[in-house]
Amino acid sequence: MANQLAILGGDPVIPPGAVKPWPPITEVDEEYVLASLRGANHAFGPNCVEFEKEFAAWNGNRYAITTNSGTAALHMCVAACDCSEGDEVIVTAYSWSSSATCILHHNCIPVFVDIDWETMNIDVDQIEAAITAKTRAIIVVHLHGLAVDMDRVMAIAAKHNLKVIEDACQAHGARFNGKKVGTLGHCAAFSFNQNKNLCSGEGGMFVTDDEEILAKARMLWSFGETRTPAESRDYHAYALGWMYRNNDLTAAFGRAQLTRLDTYLAWQRRNAQQLAESLHGVPNLLLPTEPAGHEHNWYNFVIRFDMEALGQTQDPAACRDKLVQALRAEGVEAGVWQRFILPRMTVFQAKNAYGHGAPWSSPHAQPVDYSLDQYPVAQRHSDTHACLVQTLRYPNGSDLIELIAEGIRKVMARAEELAGV
Ligand SMILES: *Cc1c(COP(=O)(O)O)cnc(C)c1O
Repeated sequence: MANQLAILGGDPVIPPGAVKPWPPITEVDEEYVLASLRGANHAFGPNCVEFEKEFAAWNGNRYAITTNSGTAALHMCVAACDCSEGDEVIVTAYSWSSSATCILHHNCIPVFVDIDWETMNIDVDQIEAAITAKTRAIIVVHLHGLAVDMDRVMAIAAKHNLKVIEDACQAHGARFNGKKVGTLGHCAAFSFNQNKNLCSGEGGMFVTDDEEILAKARMLWSFGETRTPAESRDYHAYALGWMYRNNDLTAAFGRAQLTRLDTYLAWQRRNAQQLAESLHGVPNLLLPTEPAGHEHNWYNFVIRFDMEALGQTQDPAACRDKLVQALRAEGVEAGVWQRFILPRMTVFQAKNAYGHGAPWSSPHAQPVDYSLDQYPVAQRHSDTHACLVQTLRYPNGSDLIELIAEGIRKVMARAEELAGV
């Protein structure tokens, strides 16, 4: 039964339990976390201060602020870039929801731009057409760990006097023309959620090189105050503030993981290269690209099924789901990353975030159109993709990668048959 597909009763290629969990926990994590626990500061403590310094140094930024999520850091970016109620912020049509809801958090209006098929990132050629008199900023998402072409985005922003926010939540260590993401725009957000390449449980980091942007982000971060809890506070709300601070225990965990981040990323890169080589030439399968000048971090290895070749253009998502099920039956840890493109999500279609139609109903806003026919590439990508995340992570290695490739080849050899079922 070795050749029979597992979904049809055959033996799976990969035995259960072969994929090792993420992240690996070592004595270093235990030491850092235990030391924090045995210390006297459990709110914003010394590990938070050190984590900010160490992450800023690792990434090459002047300033960093540790947050309780990547989404909090994104909201801080929007506020720090002087976006006011009713202003428009341009963002990709395909990402995690909070790449766009962070705009709503500040009473601003997201304007979606379709993606580029090759890179899966915002189609830079379409950004200028989306700019209006209301536009204040562009949020670029370095999706799956592949940087957006920042030379072109920064040139457009300079021409129209816009700020550029990098959503680097998936892109730790990714580079564009040799420079790390988070150093290319005006400010950036990283996530340290468990699935991300740097895990602190939950958490995030705001980074910038601009002192004014830093000061504005800091006020939103901690009750509208201008000083951190490590300084002598005056407990005065100078502006509207949230409570987005991180705690000492989480920062200790993040610091410990940061000591191994470069090792993890190099390992993940080797796995991705091996997988791409093993899958080269598999029929009806489209592999992710790494264009010249880009260094992918391979946070997510995203494949697409060639639905034209498979004759499945009527309902590509249904066909993709069958193929993903067949892969999972073989033990290949495949998933669907985002089933919904952003403008399709109810929060945007309903145009009602804060009640009474706010922020779209703001007297400072102008009407925006979220008709879904504007994002055909994002929709096609969403319907035809599948992704591999955990498989590529340290310490999973070449033996597992070979098995994953074998599982994918086995399913793709029968893809036409499966698609027709
Ligand atoms: C994970 C993620 C976020 C949000 O990060 P959290 O830490 O979960 O708030 C934002 N944008 C992208 C692209 C992400 O992948």
